[in-house]
Amino acid sequence: MMERTLTGFAAAPGLAAGPVSLLRPIPEGSPRTVPAQDRGKELERARRALEDTANQLEELASRLRAEGRSPEADIVETGSLMARDPGLEAAVGALVLEEGRTAPSALCEAAEAVADGLARLPDKLLAERADDVRSLGRRAAASALGTRVGHAGGVLVAANLGPADVAELGGQVRGVALAGGGVTAHAAIVARSLGVPMVVGLGLELLEVADGETVVVDGTRGQLVRHPLPNRLAAAEEDRARRRLARVQAVARRQEPAQTRDGRRLTVLANAASVAEVREALEQGAEGVGLLRTELLFLEARAWPSEADHVRFLAPLLAPLAGRVVTIRLLDFGGDKTPPFLAGSAGRGIELQLEAPEALRAQLGAILAAAADTQLRILVPMVTRLGQVRAVRQALLAVADGRSLPRLGAMIETREAAGKARELAAELDFLSLGTNDLTQSVLGLDRESSGTAPVVHPEVLRLVDVTIRAGRERGIPVEVCGEAASDPATIPLLVGLGADELSVGAARVGEVRELVRGLEYAACRELAGRSLLDQTGHAGAQGV
Ligand code: PEP
Ligand code: MG
Repeated sequence: MMERTLTGFAAAPGLAAGPVSLLRPIPEGSPRTVPAQDRGKELERARRALEDTANQLEELASRLRAEGRSPEADIVETGSLMARDPGLEAAVGALVLEEGRTAPSALCEAAEAVADGLARLPDKLLAERADDVRSLGRRAAASALGTRVGHAGGVLVAANLGPADVAELGGQVRGVALAGGGVTAHAAIVARSLGVPMVVGLGLELLEVADGETVVVDGTRGQLVRHPLPNRLAAAEEDRARRRLARVQAVARRQEPAQTRDGRRLTVLANAASVAEVREALEQGAEGVGLLRTELLFLEARAWPSEADHVRFLAPLLAPLAGRVVTIRLLDFGGDKTPPFLAGSAGRGIELQLEAPEALRAQLGAILAAAADTQLRILVPMVTRLGQVRAVRQALLAVADGRSLPRLGAMIETREAAGKARELAAELDFLSLGTNDLTQSVLGLDRESSGTAPVVHPEVLRLVDVTIRAGRERGIPVEVCGEAASDPATIPLLVGLGADELSVGAARVGEVRELVRGLEYAACRELAGRSLLDQTGHAGAQGV
């Protein structure tokens, strides 16, 4: 059969080949309470889902071990043991038989209860496992619903996915292909962070592929190839081997600083929202976390998270980060990160959270408690006005109650914030450029479906330059935490403009550090000056 190429947008680089796992939508209308006579059968369904999950995880663990990834294999194997834990099964049984809960809901709730217990333990290693148990519950629930990934190690194909789905399923597949989606949507960000090749925007024709047919996903060119020829399959395998080798090399060089050949030292931090990402980032030499997207932990929330909710999610994430820089962003709900309880709200980021001052205080209280052992920085998302960061500082003062205050910074990801960069820099301890939202909003693109994010656009570049200069004038660090910070074509420009810190997806930390080591700062400055000159007609990027 001839090859057939579908073209979409490149969302996460790399080639992946394998059988298609077609993700079926969750069936609607499962009853909320199972009638008494059906509860036995429902429990059977839950047990099968747990068994299924344990088997999947065992399979995944042996594959990881065969690939020489023993630390990950150990983690996954622990998950399969947890799925067979009689305590978990008993808790699921009680919820189904006594309360008439459906299998998926009982699996999630029982896992949550076990995770809660673990998170409270003084032993940090055990507390870290809480996240894994929650993930296990979600995985088993998906299996009970028939939405599990059918071919572990294959290519996940779906109409669209949210960031939590990719976080959940990304570890089980080699590649992801979506009919819809955009390259700066959070689902794509999570795929890049996990190092899973992904193509989005392939159109409805994608959904005609058969479950189990072999395809190749080309996340670098933005294509999916059906009926691939042997040489294309071989190229995908080679690419995978190359990426594995690059990771091994990155891990081996993790102690070497990210310094240009002529001595400009950059700090490379990680964007993370899960324990797995934190572990991977540290393994690859990240100096800390430059962006902890807290909202990704609460995308299914039915109300603003309480202080205890925040602590429960933060504690395992922060446990491996003692003594390091950790930048925790306040909840950035809105857009493609809208939980059910905020459905219909128009606002985004800090604007939304300031409408719920108690929710802000709860999060600040939890951060101060959970991050006490780290070099904490708090980051305010989607800033448009000075008043917003002042309100956060006031709330922080009240919550800190005499304790020393952490550093406070603002995301510069709107035109308004970039326009006030100097005023913001005068009041804050650091700035963080969010190039994802900045490019999309300045250029009037739709972030959830757009196929590009061109930081080199003259207007975006000007705003990036203005922001970095504002930070430099005040002597405060400026980090870039949008996806541009890990784009090999954009990094020299950002370095040349004077960015101090690059915060990138966990899977890309090693690659970015390596890339910085190959740069000449002087050449980067020249490039930045030329780019600004080309685009504005006058020289910029001076004094960097
Ligand atoms: C950004 O907008 O660049 C950013 C880092 O924030 P997020 O992607 O979470 O919106
Ligand atoms: Mg943003």
